[in-house]
Amino acid sequence: MTRTSLQCRECKKEYDTAFKYICEDCFGPLDVKYDFPSISKDTFSNREHTYWRYFELLPIEDKSNIVSINAGMTPLIKADKLGEKLGLNNLYIKNDSVNPTFSFKDRPAGVAISKAKEFGLSAVGCASTGNLASATAAHAAKGGFPCHIFAPSNIEMAKITQALSYGANYIAVDGTYDDANRIAAQIGDSKGIGIVNINMRSHYVEGSKT
Ligand SMILES: [Zn+2]
Repeated sequence: MTRTSLQCRECKKEYDTAFKYICEDCFGPLDVKYDFPSISKDTFSNREHTYWRYFELLPIEDKSNIVSINAGMTPLIKADKLGEKLGLNNLYIKNDSVNPTFSFKDRPAGVAISKAKEFGLSAVGCASTGNLASATAAHAAKGGFPCHIFAPSNIEMAKITQALSYGANYIAVDGTYDDANRIAAQIGDSKGIGIVNINMRSHYVEGSKT
């Protein structure tokens, strides 16, 4: 018995959790459906200082599969001057640039790669030209996965240098970002590689809510 299943956003057909992201009947996207335990605010207090403190709300069955680089719990900064301009007395901005790879992408990438570990996949990757590549590569390094970054061949190398510093493999696609996305999808599906923002997307997006 698992805590989560998958459900088609369009026709509502349900599936056992598996390495899939598209409905077999209508090709609609699959979303994670939870069988939530009894939880309250107290459930999450006195836990680790990362977004994994919300374990019950995330689609990982076994804590031993968590691949964490200590992301989350970033500060809220009171934006007085912007608040004045907008007529808001209590405007706060979440500073996710202080995450380990400097963007909010550490949240979804971490959940997707933890799920890739739970699925027993042998490699991960993403189609990205920037922040997502870094977040995916860092979590892949932590989890011991080979990581393949699909991006156009004409990007500025500075954009992908951070990801390469974590040991990722850059697959340069002659074409646009859309072409890189399409090739990542085809190779991911045919080789069983967890492409975090494509064939792992059902689980990937769950990290964004943290
Ligand atoms: Zn469907």
